[in-house]
Amino acid sequence: MDVNDALYLKAQQVMPGGVNSPVRAYRDVDMAPRFINSADGAYITDADSCRYIDYVCSWGPLILGHNHASVRAAVEQAIPDGLSFGAPTSGEIEIARLIVGMVPNIEMVRMVNSGTEAVMSALRLARGATGRDKLIKFDGCYHGHCDAMLVNAGSSVLDGGRPSSAGVPEGAARDTLTARYNDLDSVRALLEANRDQVAAVIVEPVAANMGVVPPAPGFLQGLRDLCDEFGALLIFDEVITGFRLATGGAQAYFDVRADLVTFGKIIGGGMPVGAYAGSRELMELVAPCGPVYQAGTLSGNPVAMAAGRAQLLWLKQHPYIYEDLEKNGEILAAGLRDAAGAAGVPVRVNRVGSLISVFFTDTDVFDLESARTSDRDLYAAYFAGMLKRGIYLAPSRFEAMFLSDAHTKEDIDTTLKAAAETFRELGG
Ligand SMILES: *Cc1c(COP(=O)(O)O)cnc(C)c1O
Repeated sequence: MDVNDALYLKAQQVMPGGVNSPVRAYRDVDMAPRFINSADGAYITDADSCRYIDYVCSWGPLILGHNHASVRAAVEQAIPDGLSFGAPTSGEIEIARLIVGMVPNIEMVRMVNSGTEAVMSALRLARGATGRDKLIKFDGCYHGHCDAMLVNAGSSVLDGGRPSSAGVPEGAARDTLTARYNDLDSVRALLEANRDQVAAVIVEPVAANMGVVPPAPGFLQGLRDLCDEFGALLIFDEVITGFRLATGGAQAYFDVRADLVTFGKIIGGGMPVGAYAGSRELMELVAPCGPVYQAGTLSGNPVAMAAGRAQLLWLKQHPYIYEDLEKNGEILAAGLRDAAGAAGVPVRVNRVGSLISVFFTDTDVFDLESARTSDRDLYAAYFAGMLKRGIYLAPSRFEAMFLSDAHTKEDIDTTLKAAAETFRELGG
């Protein structure tokens, strides 16, 4: 038995499924998870000393790759001054000013500790601001694990084939209405049937938790217009897209304005950080200025802020990174499409910038229903074939590939060679 398998057995004695987040358990690909010892740049090394080219990148935060020198230096510099104060610091002002300067249409930001917390807080703010209770989300979009969002949710919630979760009271789910991604009529119908009751429409501006599903042209602007017409707030959940599509996130990339924006992942540079942001008018409804309560013992943690600030600053100072990611993303996506085609394996490859998904289906993927046509067993075989060849992909057909600035042309070449062999195996 190798070290990985031994660790997996041990882990299952003391942690449910051996993991601290379900998708890591590899249940959707019928394998034992890899335990990771270390990572650097585009590479990750497991407990058996196997090195892989990593396309998970901690599920998105590591847009500069693992252990980026400037992020690590910022953390090392912060540590001697203390790990937590529970009091304001100048570092918090710096990262807040950086975010407000980079992201269009926001004036204030509140830092929290995860994407889940950011979304939960933004929803409370939207309800507090409008005095309305209902929310509209989209089937297959994932917004973290707060009760109200565990209704037809994406990500590893999909793997279990359950639309929701046990333990979510009917009352918490009752006020969450679900619409179809890329289907404005389904949103209008809900808004009309619930006139003056919908506080917010929350959307992943690029859906990336049912695999990558781009917004159809006009979809996001259509949501903006519907929200204006019905007096609801539009929330962009940019926990993945924030600072990934562009320094200004999806608002800048698609030129559509949201009322509230949530962040996570990239904003922490690999440390546990989330944030929500909006206009001064909305954000000053949050305690201590206003009646919407939200707090955090470790929020704005000085070490986490140092990491996040260093990564955001690097992105701001190296804007060409986004052009490189776009170019490399297209080479990788086109290469995967060609390799599958040459092997006679029907796939759809969706891509927006550095977010890519391979769906094993012969229908276009534009919403949850079409995403679900992706063949589970073929994905599992593809995953195993790639892993065997040193390519570390997301262990679920409903997750994205994350390309980082650390991935070189050679890494992509190696990946495409592995993909060609793997697809031939699947096709043969
Ligand atoms: C990851 C994710 C979340 C949840 O963030 P956590 O830090 O895992 O709590 C919320 N929304 C989106 C779009 C995400 O991808």
